[in-house]
Amino acid sequence: MPIQILSDDVASQIAAGEVVERPASVVKELLENSLDAGARSINIRIEGAGQRLIEVSDDGDGISQGELTLAVARHATSKLRTAEDLFHITTLGFRGEALASIASVSRFSITTRRTGAEVGSHIRVEGGAARPVEGAGGPEGTEVRVEDLFFNVPARLKFLKHDSTERGQIDGLVTRYALAYPQVRFQLWQDNRATLKTSGNGDRREILAQLYGIEIARQLLEVNSDEDGRHMNGFISPVALTRSNRRDITFFINGRWVQSVPLTTALVQAYHTLLMVGRFPLAVVFLNLPPEEVDVNVHPAKAEVRFREPERIFSLVQRGTRRALLAYSPVPSIGLPQ
Ligand code: ADP
Ligand code: MG
Repeated sequence: MPIQILSDDVASQIAAGEVVERPASVVKELLENSLDAGARSINIRIEGAGQRLIEVSDDGDGISQGELTLAVARHATSKLRTAEDLFHITTLGFRGEALASIASVSRFSITTRRTGAEVGSHIRVEGGAARPVEGAGGPEGTEVRVEDLFFNVPARLKFLKHDSTERGQIDGLVTRYALAYPQVRFQLWQDNRATLKTSGNGDRREILAQLYGIEIARQLLEVNSDEDGRHMNGFISPVALTRSNRRDITFFINGRWVQSVPLTTALVQAYHTLLMVGRFPLAVVFLNLPPEEVDVNVHPAKAEVRFREPERIFSLVQRGTRRALLAYSPVPSIGLPQ
């Protein structure tokens, strides 16, 4: 084939393939946008495991009528101006890609009213084609509706797992964000059934109880550790409470859920010989690091990060974990490397 520049349509769908892998990835991007907009309350409605409908409404800043078309354009963002800014990211979003990507593979609409604005506005995008912006009523804040996800990419539909798996992914994701933002009220509805409701009162143990049950939530140990402006807090399991895999080890860095094998390994190693072979701790850990020490621009879905000084972060995690284990559990300190 001769070399040709891809049409915008095809380019968007390729980009969407990286950002929008499954319904839970749509939920993640929309939640992050709501949190970036300063929402105090976020409602999520899911129908048909996210294939029929994903609706996220928030009471955040909203989008002005004049900017609504831009919000769904590719590489359009209010969060970043220069490449230099990439190393001081304090928002969850920055790529300006999510809404355009999601809109290119769904029937998509936004209804929004900016704080203090008298009227709101509405835009519809179908398979990437945006209609003109219209005026609309509605409360301050933003409601994004994603219907018929992947209706125009049947190949992608075939890769989706069983409904119960996709639903579980969404539950897990929203619960984790609720944990990271306990001051925000979250409500999640799946096919008109509430699967998560948090109060926004800041109490993380209450949310942990919804994720793991009251008994486990009660047993988890609190971690709190500070090293030169790098901060670790959260919850880890005592040595008696273990899992058969690493899946219940969750890390947030500067409010962002990340998957990091080295961080997970650092945490597991902190338990050293205290766990039986093949058993793993359960943990929900929040790291607050100077933004310039974390490169978040390494993964399209922003799920992985790179550290400027990885060793420092790993030892923060290990020392914090050890300290918490020693402080709470009646284990002899022998065998714990310093
Ligand atoms: P990014 O979050 O990387 O900037 P997005 O495509 O997710 O890119 O969103 C584009 C822009 O639309 C954002 O920069 C923001 O200005 C606006 N926006 C999106 N969602 C919301 C929301 N829920 N509330 C207010 N503004 C939003
Ligand atoms: Mg975003």
